[in-house]
Amino acid sequence: MTHPTGRTQSMPQETAPGVYQIVIPTPFSVGPVNVYLITGSSLTLVDVGPNTPAAWEALQGGLKALGYKAEDVQQVILTHHHVDHCGLLRRFCAESGARSYAHPLAVPYVEMDKEFMEFHNQFFFRLYRESGVPERLMTVIDKFYQLMMTFCEPARIDGLLKHEQPLPGLPEWKVLYTPGHAQSHLSLYRSSDQVMIGGDHILKRISSNAFIEPPRDRSQARPLTLVQYRTALQMCADIDIRLVLPGHGEVVTEHRELIASRLQRNWERTDTLRRLLRDGEKTAFELSALLFPELYEKELPLTLSETLGHIDLLTILHQIEIRRRDGVFVYSL
Ligand SMILES: [Zn+2]
Ligand SMILES: [Zn+2]
Repeated sequence: MTHPTGRTQSMPQETAPGVYQIVIPTPFSVGPVNVYLITGSSLTLVDVGPNTPAAWEALQGGLKALGYKAEDVQQVILTHHHVDHCGLLRRFCAESGARSYAHPLAVPYVEMDKEFMEFHNQFFFRLYRESGVPERLMTVIDKFYQLMMTFCEPARIDGLLKHEQPLPGLPEWKVLYTPGHAQSHLSLYRSSDQVMIGGDHILKRISSNAFIEPPRDRSQARPLTLVQYRTALQMCADIDIRLVLPGHGEVVTEHRELIASRLQRNWERTDTLRRLLRDGEKTAFELSALLFPELYEKELPLTLSETLGHIDLLTILHQIEIRRRDGVFVYSL
């Protein structure tokens, strides 16, 4: 369909029986986000898109093309707390009266809890310090909050979802906790026809980043997000899935092959890290600059998460030594 602005929007597609994909534009390099409308005993929207006028227009347009209005939607399920998926939640729920559901760990992000955001900043300040990130790049920490404020309105979560519970109002769907890309990440699985709505857990053309996040309990160490991600991928490889309906890009039909290649890629990257450490000890920041020479400054949270994740894998296998020097961790073989 063509919008008054001249932009074209693709028609919603029925990607699985009763599950309609609406493609929502985002201003991010990842490209558009896919949200899903599940028809059935409870009209359910999975994810909403970022808080931009274009995304709002696309969401309304998509529902309209399917013969619905926002008020018809009874509930919204969030796959995870990233702004490209949850930014419009407040506006959509205010307009529709729909109930919102998410994993408990999404709550402080979606509500933009002030105390949590301060803890979040302190956590990253310390992590970046310990990783050897130079002072001039520390400003990236504030950018996270700015990004949230720009593309997300603080919203309320009405109900919490946990691993293996049936989806409220849609008992044929089961919740799977699939952490790694985000600590709050959920996937939704319908066993009758082996369809999974996968958020950013399994994407065909992008290898999902296992973003480092603060721990659930402030006194604990940070979660090993790449290890979690690999475990959650393996869990999905053990499930019969005919179709993964992803948060970005095309549907995935051969999920086991894709997962095997992602898991294999991790070992290739640990080999690269070991090779880089052969020339002498390095900080995580120095390793990220060598691994991602084009991206490491521009995409610091992403490249550092990727680097630290692979350092974690090597650490678990006792393949690297860690020393702390002037508050900075230095790695060697
Ligand atoms: Zn995401
Ligand atoms: Zn995403």
